[in-house]
Amino acid sequence: MRPPVLDSLFAPVSTLPGVGPKIAKLLTDFLASQPDREATIADLLFHIPHTVIDRRHRPGIAYSENGDIVTLDVTIDRHMPGPRGGRAPYRITAFDDTGSITFVFFHSRRDWLEKTFPEGERRIVSGKVEWFNERPQMVHPDYSLAPDEADAMPQVEPVYPMTAGLSPKTLQKAMAAALDKLPELPEWLNDAHLRQNQWPSFKEALTALHRPEERLDISPESLFFQRLAYDELLASQLALSLVRSKMRQLGGISRKPSGSLQRRVVGVLPFSLTRSQASAVEDINADLAEPTRMLRLLQGDVGSGKTVVALAALAQVIETGAQGALMAPTEILARQHFASMSPICEKVGIRLALLTGKDTAKERRITQEKLDAGEIDLVVGTHALFQGKVTFKDLALVVVDEQHRFGVHQRLALSAKGQGVDVLVMTATPIPRTLVLTCFGDMDVSRLTDKPAGRKPITTVSVSLDRLDEIIGRIGAAIADGQKVYWVCPLVEESEKIDLAAVEDRHRVLEQELRQRVSLVHGRMSADEKDAAMQDFKSGQTRVLVATTVIEVGVDVPDATIIVIEHAERFGLAQLHQLRGRVGRGDKASSCVLLYKGPLGETAGARLNIMRQTNDGFLIAEEDLKLRGGGEILGTRQSGTPGFRIARAEEHADLMEVARDDARLILETDPELSTERGSALRTLLYLFGRDEAIRLLRAG
Ligand code: ADP
Ligand code: MG
Repeated sequence: MRPPVLDSLFAPVSTLPGVGPKIAKLLTDFLASQPDREATIADLLFHIPHTVIDRRHRPGIAYSENGDIVTLDVTIDRHMPGPRGGRAPYRITAFDDTGSITFVFFHSRRDWLEKTFPEGERRIVSGKVEWFNERPQMVHPDYSLAPDEADAMPQVEPVYPMTAGLSPKTLQKAMAAALDKLPELPEWLNDAHLRQNQWPSFKEALTALHRPEERLDISPESLFFQRLAYDELLASQLALSLVRSKMRQLGGISRKPSGSLQRRVVGVLPFSLTRSQASAVEDINADLAEPTRMLRLLQGDVGSGKTVVALAALAQVIETGAQGALMAPTEILARQHFASMSPICEKVGIRLALLTGKDTAKERRITQEKLDAGEIDLVVGTHALFQGKVTFKDLALVVVDEQHRFGVHQRLALSAKGQGVDVLVMTATPIPRTLVLTCFGDMDVSRLTDKPAGRKPITTVSVSLDRLDEIIGRIGAAIADGQKVYWVCPLVEESEKIDLAAVEDRHRVLEQELRQRVSLVHGRMSADEKDAAMQDFKSGQTRVLVATTVIEVGVDVPDATIIVIEHAERFGLAQLHQLRGRVGRGDKASSCVLLYKGPLGETAGARLNIMRQTNDGFLIAEEDLKLRGGGEILGTRQSGTPGFRIARAEEHADLMEVARDDARLILETDPELSTERGSALRTLLYLFGRDEAIRLLRAG
């Protein structure tokens, strides 16, 4: 149960004065931490300002620079309404010792203007100055106050990332009301740590970010920001450590087979393992031999050959007579893993099965019976594998492909299906070390750093959509030359219908222009339809595959050499890199065409540039963090570190290390979080939405 002290923070935003259903909906779409639930007051308070306006800046009219936000102490001179019925704005002139300025208004009520800017009186006016024909003006000043009311204007005003339809004033009002509900919470950090860092309490810190007194107060290095970032990191590390220690408690099994099956698997491959593949396999063999559970992350760029490593690992437990499972994030990928593993498994005598959500009840029953009887050694599937009903005779190793799509609890659910189940997580996202910690917690890591031999680099170009015809012409030539082409169109949920129409349209145009059949794959098709389309493309029946981003992860057609990414400006860097990794898998030179619709925004331009400059996944991941961390993409929750609302992977990496040690120490001394501090830490876990971990405590 949630600690009652948090009740006021977990109340829906619509309970705040001034927040009606319309604003509540906007805030929910923008900020809610859980889908299907109205944004809470905590969600609102965790939305922190990204910059401030310093209204103490009072240079005087003549010394105000174009574009600056300034506060002026002026005497109101004259009102000049525009001609009746005309479109000209309403103007008011004013002056100070240094010069004069015009305030400009469109569609404002005259009686309000006369009351707010009374002729001949002194007013404190604040807003943005613009110079126009060498004269200063201010369009719709933010404040105009009598000198004795000037206190009502904040000296330093927080500015928040915004969403369409929400006005800054509305958000500020809601925020002020939310701050009134912020209770004093029990302290979950230890005294020494607080004193050493001179950190304020949680309440003080959060209040200070929303009511900054200095620009520096809201910078990621400020004591306030650091304290909150640390709280969030500690919550996350504590949750991950709880999961981990729970898994350890469940105990592992030492598996030390002779390695003959693994050697046979490697032996039937048409290539030899790269050095890093071989060393990853060694890491895994050593883990499996330990009596504790394996929790290892296998990190390798797209095309680095993770699947083979997984299969080698699986062979090791299968040799002992136990079973393995490989879980893929999508139907297509599960089928593809199944297809590529089948011939190898057949040769070495591993009994392989496929299990997905699309299986008929009968197919599923048969698979289930065989799993229980131990007649299947290895099952490949989608999240259908998690489902409570699937059982195993003796599940020993679970391999999870592309972990970032699965949550910690899902991983746990699967590994609870056997005794001492070992877990290998594979990700193609080349997450920097700091993020591995934040997303995966205390896992061991193996990295595939060298590409399989013979790979040719991929040439990347960016081209405006205006040149579509030219690109189609070149694609035609490439096909005539025997090449295969992916053509990717974006699909975003909000505009799914429009995007789907665009994909179908593109498919039609390509068939017309290229005068041949083109395959099409998108999320609305059935598994069979998708399969058939992929199969046509793989076998060469068709030479072009138009797809939404369902091909993003892991799809393997080694002889595809060109990928066209339409509306590349709408994709993030990591996604672009993943997509590009679909080509360059064979021994032929490949290319990637980033088709963009101009004009390009600054961030989108930077992304495309990076893509053209490098193929290095780790470098791209770092640039990605920088671009997103910079908060350029205002108004989206994309900015910042994924999974975190306050902490930033870049700026708070050092705090992360401390939080990890702290979490470890806490669980060593208070494994059930039953002390007074332990109970405060439970509050912390709830506060940052990591309460899933608390349920583990009770279960144990
Ligand atoms: P990813 O890491 O993206 O999952 P895959 O496991 O799909 O990569 O491997 C990509 C391709 O590279 C596959 O066609 C696979 O057979 C091939 N491959 C894997 N390891 C090697 C190797 N050591 N030498 C040559 N080709 C390899
Ligand atoms: Mg893969």
